[in-house]
Amino acid sequence: MKSRRDFLQKLTASMVTLPFMPLDSLAAPADNLQLEHADETPYAGPVLRVALMGLGGYANRVADAMRACKKAKLVGLVTGTPAKKNDWQTRFYIPEKNCYNYSDFDKMANNPDIDAVYVTTPNGLHHDQVIRVANAGKHVICEKPMAINAKEGQEMVDICKKKNVKLLVGYRMHLEPKTLEIIRMRKAGEFGKVQFFQGLSGFTIGDPTQWRLNKQLAGGGAMMDIGIYSINGARYMLGEDPIWVTAQETKTNPVKFAVGVDETIQFQLGFPSGAVASCLSTYNMNFLDRFFLTGEKGFAELNPSTGYGPIMGRTHKGELAFRHVTHQTVQMEEFSDIILNGKQPTVPVDGEEGVKDLKIIDAIYQAVKEGKKVNIKW
Ligand code: NDP
Repeated sequence: MKSRRDFLQKLTASMVTLPFMPLDSLAAPADNLQLEHADETPYAGPVLRVALMGLGGYANRVADAMRACKKAKLVGLVTGTPAKKNDWQTRFYIPEKNCYNYSDFDKMANNPDIDAVYVTTPNGLHHDQVIRVANAGKHVICEKPMAINAKEGQEMVDICKKKNVKLLVGYRMHLEPKTLEIIRMRKAGEFGKVQFFQGLSGFTIGDPTQWRLNKQLAGGGAMMDIGIYSINGARYMLGEDPIWVTAQETKTNPVKFAVGVDETIQFQLGFPSGAVASCLSTYNMNFLDRFFLTGEKGFAELNPSTGYGPIMGRTHKGELAFRHVTHQTVQMEEFSDIILNGKQPTVPVDGEEGVKDLKIIDAIYQAVKEGKKVNIKW
């Protein structure tokens, strides 16, 4: 294989020709994409030069995955922790002139060597940080949830438009091969009329002092962090946006999960076609990462459905057998194409897409509070 582009092309081709081979025949180690990237063919096209903001767990994963990118390069950082700055400068060869903290990153406006900033800080900080990045004239990639409510999300979209910068949300599953194959099959009518989706998203959260359990920084609880995968998944698996929501909350530990920090919410979504979704979002149960879709002629299952992979999938036709790809590597390659070349992904990854999920989350919280069905107007 000569180049990364070849690899992606062959991957796409294999999605068309080999979707139902036995899994073992294509089984690959989790770092398979890195092996594919080991080819040294020079890439002559444009490269998105990225600064990461908030050097925590996810930023480390993204930075490591970006080592295999050709179309995107990590060139800068924003951190509030001086020790991390030194460590990252060494690990990722980041020059001093591309290093910022939370007080001075607006100065990036005068730095022509950074094209985009990838915001991977706690959810409650995204709104202000994304707006500052946009005001500095840089494209923005923001982690999910893009904000803590739809109003904030819409403000971010509006300012990025005004400043003529792109705003993308880190929806890595929108580029995952097995997910895309199910979407292709649904569009091709292979499931017939799709009637039902089930999304189960949850894990048992540890340290009670972490920001994910702080309403101000997290914007909520499990729904903001993990339940959003079922919301987003329901939309891309069914190919529609819901028009009503019902939801019920249970809380077994009101100390760990304080007011405004949801522990477990079950919710139901109704779609214009008549399809319905039934979903679970929780911070207090394990082994929940499963999507299931059924239609008049067939079904699809992803289990696990949104973890870092390998994602496992099957349909009424058999196992889905695509190589595992490092999600964050593919995401950054594709995001580079979207930002620099105007590429249109199969499932949108833009700010408007992020606002849709937040609008549904707002409606779910409202349905929990009021104990009744909430209609969503688009
Ligand atoms: P971490 O806690 O591991 O890292 C967050 C980083 O943000 C910190 O290390 C810190 O970096 C910076 N930060 C700035 N202000 C604060 C503050 N007040 N409290 C805590 N940290 C602060 O979180 P994650 O990396 O797990 O999550 C970050 C974002 O990424 C979230 O929005 C989350 O939802 C999303 N995420 C997405 C995933 C995906 O698969 N798409 C997976 C995991 C997370 P520094 O010291 O450099 O300032």
